Amino acid sequence: MADRPRFGPAGKPIGYKGKATGVPRYLRSEGLDAFEFQAVRWGARPGMKKEDAEELGREARRHDVLLSMHASYFINLCADGKKLEDSIRRLLVCLEYASYMGAYIVVFHPGFYKGKPKEEALEGCIRALRRVRDEASTISGKLPLLGPETTGKPTQLGDLEEIIRLCEEVEGCRPVVDWAHIHAREGVGSIRGRDDYLAILRLLEERLGSDVVENLHTHFTRVEFSAKGELKHHRMDEVSYGPEFAPLAELMAELGLRHVVISESPILDRDALVMKKMVEEAFRKLGRPFPGQASQVG
Ligand SMILES: [Zn+2]
Repeated sequence: MADRPRFGPAGKPIGYKGKATGVPRYLRSEGLDAFEFQAVRWGARPGMKKEDAEELGREARRHDVLLSMHASYFINLCADGKKLEDSIRRLLVCLEYASYMGAYIVVFHPGFYKGKPKEEALEGCIRALRRVRDEASTISGKLPLLGPETTGKPTQLGDLEEIIRLCEEVEGCRPVVDWAHIHAREGVGSIRGRDDYLAILRLLEERLGSDVVENLHTHFTRVEFSAKGELKHHRMDEVSYGPEFAPLAELMAELGLRHVVISESPILDRDALVMKKMVEEAFRKLGRPFPGQASQVG
């Protein structure tokens, strides 16, 4: 849970070549304070040593960088049989290693409909997540939150309503709002401005409570899409692609939101800094102090 708005990259900073354990120090020197570790290629086995996960956690705490983890892409909680069992194992491995790191949330894409009626796919996913939750109770250490993410393609389970349902039905679930995915999913550019952001925040508040809205874990990038959803991420300076970050930055300042904003732009950390400066600017315009470390000047 963030104590203030926090900003950081999805994966290693673009100018950084070393091990993951060195990332928190690097981010802090840039003026960033969140890091989403990418376990997206992990299969049945973890892609790192337990000692390295623990070391990453120590470094993150030392430099006041909030850790989250993006779980394996090879997870489909709407599946049956062996595919479902493998998916549950993979998510559990991610939760275990996230717990070694002290990551506060494990973000994941719930699954694919693959021809199932939507309600049936959702019910299967709820059952699977409850099992994950039960089996994860054997993990020693603090259990991270489960973070089902709004997805970017209409073939994937994960429109906003489905993500809310998962969070209503499964204990320990928090919605992860990928704004670009919401924008791209239906192929129409769903986020056109302040009112669209506000409608999403209000719906989340109504259904899941103000604590959830104030402390949301989010992803942001400009995005290109087709009728089939998300195609390609774009930099913040590629202004022909939406959604616009400015109205969200203004809402964060007005409503005092302490969102964790993970940049998924092609220039990850560089654009995380752009987003951070926009939120700082929004606070300044309202005459309110930015509740965090101000970006380094010059
Ligand atoms: Zn994702």
